[in-house]
Amino acid sequence: MKVTQTLRKEEMQRLAALCPSARAAAVELIARCNARGLHLRVGETYRPQEEQAARVAKGQSATLRSWHFLRRALHLYPLYGEGNRIADVTGKRKDLYAILHEEAKAQGFKAAGGTTDWWRVLKGKHGPFVDQAHFEWREGMTYAQARAAMQAVA
Ligand SMILES: [Zn+2]
Repeated sequence: MKVTQTLRKEEMQRLAALCPSARAAAVELIARCNARGLHLRVGETYRPQEEQAARVAKGQSATLRSWHFLRRALHLYPLYGEGNRIADVTGKRKDLYAILHEEAKAQGFKAAGGTTDWWRVLKGKHGPFVDQAHFEWREGMTYAQARAAMQAVA
């Protein structure tokens, strides 16, 4: 399958910051969604540990053990509206996320926490939140295994 939507320069750069297998999987997921008429915005991918700590402090993330740091997590938002210019960052277009989550699950992506329930309510420092746009490419590895694998090539 091919990506048929146009990706912006910054989106290409974000994809390039993923590890090779996660990057290939992300491109395939975008292509699968494109084949179903859904276009996506590529959000955050790699996140350094200092930024992760700041996000936990702000209640935007639940853990310091982030797969973003391992270059194996990314955010994808369904696009809608005229010219597909609006990115649904809040999760109101459940119909579009249903397509995205279905394809992600079929491919082997995980939601935050390693489940396949993207609408699960997570505990943040300042209250509950959902992370419906977060996708992890774990390839069956634990966090420790993925971290060791990353350090082995770095
Ligand atoms: Zn995330």
